[in-house]
Amino acid sequence: MKIVMIGTGYVGLVTGTCLSESGNDVTCVDIDEKKVELLQSGRIPIYEPGLEELIRRCSKAGRLHFTTDAAAVVSEARAVFLAVGTPQQDDGSADLSDIFAAAEGIAPDLSEDAVVVVKSTVPVGTNRRIAVRLRELTGRSVDVASNPEFLKEGCAVDDFTKPDRVVVGVDRPEVAELLKEVYEPYLDAERPFLVMGLESAEMTKYVANCFLATKISFINEMANLCERVDADIDEVRKGIGYDRRIGFSFLYPGAGYGGSCFPKDVRAAVRVAEAAQFDANLLKVVDEVNTRQKHVLFEKLSDCLGGKLPGRRVAVWGLAFKPQTDDIREAPALVLIRQLLKVGAEIRVSDPEAMENVRSEFGDRLLYHDDPYAALDGADALVLCTEWENFRSPDLARMFASMRRPIVIDGRNVWEPEEMRASGFKYVGIGRRGGASAG
Ligand code: NAD
Repeated sequence: MKIVMIGTGYVGLVTGTCLSESGNDVTCVDIDEKKVELLQSGRIPIYEPGLEELIRRCSKAGRLHFTTDAAAVVSEARAVFLAVGTPQQDDGSADLSDIFAAAEGIAPDLSEDAVVVVKSTVPVGTNRRIAVRLRELTGRSVDVASNPEFLKEGCAVDDFTKPDRVVVGVDRPEVAELLKEVYEPYLDAERPFLVMGLESAEMTKYVANCFLATKISFINEMANLCERVDADIDEVRKGIGYDRRIGFSFLYPGAGYGGSCFPKDVRAAVRVAEAAQFDANLLKVVDEVNTRQKHVLFEKLSDCLGGKLPGRRVAVWGLAFKPQTDDIREAPALVLIRQLLKVGAEIRVSDPEAMENVRSEFGDRLLYHDDPYAALDGADALVLCTEWENFRSPDLARMFASMRRPIVIDGRNVWEPEEMRASGFKYVGIGRRGGASAG
């Protein structure tokens, strides 16, 4: 099938490439000329494990192309996917300008039988509004399907090719049939293809992200409470996780959720509720708890240094909002860095993949180290913000020898408190017994 993918970000690039790998002829379109040039030369603008190799293979096989010229390719396409960004606006609602610009851009070239598939996360009612706009521009009815994406950055290729489920919202069963053909290679009895109405599909994406965000804020709140009553969230987590009604997934305390989805989607859902004259109290609190959680690392650090942060040298390990990605959107590390800059601390950072993105935001206000141990040289404290694999079993003796003060704030609870303390560190985790003042 000839497919056009509008937008080559984390979602568009992964989706386009995987659909090409499964035999379709895919052209990915982006307005960012630099991105397209890079992709045409066989390199990729993001870090996503396994993706570059797949892109090379599909491009070589002649099934994957990149262009900035949508008009040249849209007329041939049976399905045109829209995977552009829907970032947050100042009032918390989703900014739909890119998705409408993309839809308007393809309208003149859409073939009679083309289906427009909206992969971007959009508030309820958007797909219908896009259909209305396309009808105005083409003078005929155009099929629009909602096909929310559930992939996770860092294992996006795997998630796309082994989905828990595929959700499509349609108005006509024929459109669902076409999309089932597209997704057939990835479906089986345990990976169902769920057909529903447009509004339900749009809501499914928000409800999924709001639920996961709620779990994170919940466990963070419980971790903060554990600290204050001398309980240990690790023990409590096990105590609840074996209950099959609860389970362990997404119940890890930390420095708050970030990324390009949870924060904006929770806020957008609050706005969707407001537009429907409904007060989504729980979601507002989930967002508030998360915003507060992002300040916890700074507070713990300040506590350990007796409130004297100006001029202190602080090492930050991990900048991406989670491991296995270079994405720093809404990352807890950035909140910490901004607070440290404000009080005049010296900041040395290290991350396996996200340093360039951080450098483009903070420039020479930070010191960047490819070698994480170099970031520790003479440091008054280390804060771990992202649980990259290479930070999990560090050389404790080397860390201890490098630092001026052996203070470690473990924002992801990856290190063993007893082991750290036995190695001479003042260790502080999230919700773990010992708290900020324990030695
Ligand atoms: P992104 O910001 O990484 O990429 C969007 C791309 O679209 C950019 O390259 C931009 O240049 C391009 N673009 C914008 N307008 C365009 C136009 N008119 N024509 C062609 N290209 C255009 O975004 P993303 O992270 O891939 O997210 C895309 C959507 O998918 C969002 O709605 C997001 O909420 C949703 N989503 C994201 C993830 C994720 O993990 N990133 C997961 C599921 C869903």
